[in-house]
Amino acid sequence: MTQISLEKCKWCNGSGRDYSISPNCPCMDCESTGFKYGKVAKEEYDRQHEEEMEKAERAYIQSMREIGKRVTCWELAELVRWIHPRHIDFSEGNLVERIKNFGVYTLQEIPIEKISRGDYEIFEEDIQKYASMSLETYPPIILGDVFGDKYDNVDGNHRVESHVLRGESVILAFVPDYETRIEDCEEEEEEEMEEFECLI
Ligand SMILES: [Zn+2]
Repeated sequence: MTQISLEKCKWCNGSGRDYSISPNCPCMDCESTGFKYGKVAKEEYDRQHEEEMEKAERAYIQSMREIGKRVTCWELAELVRWIHPRHIDFSEGNLVERIKNFGVYTLQEIPIEKISRGDYEIFEEDIQKYASMSLETYPPIILGDVFGDKYDNVDGNHRVESHVLRGESVILAFVPDYETRIEDCEEEEEEEMEEFECLI
């Protein structure tokens, strides 16, 4: 494959504008792309940029998939922001607030039968999104408290359903270190106030 040169346009010095006419005037020499070879070079630049972004994303997810890895709730908040860039669940489900119930999480392989299912609405297209990912590349899910003998699934219901469809029995999950539970001070204070009000 011949490498397409990303040399910049000499006429506009890479700005894409012809300042000799006006700051708003597009440079005719490079089709206002700023590249010597015009749109072909711009496309190549975009392709390379996208490739680098994808590579960085893959490296990031791989680094979050090392069993035994310990992360803070802040690192997990970053992970869910990356997973749900525009997802409505992100703001409506209080995802970050729920993650911050614990300070530290450890990555483990958890049997799916130990995870609570059916508590949330499931969207077919989201299951399909994960079904198209290889098992080596999906981001781990995030678990919370244990109710009965099952973990509450804080983030990753669609990944669990997609695993079930594939016949998988385990899934990678960040499990809270329960001794790092962060007590909600405000709630406790409110409860105390209510008790106090009952007494008077
Ligand atoms: Zn130019």
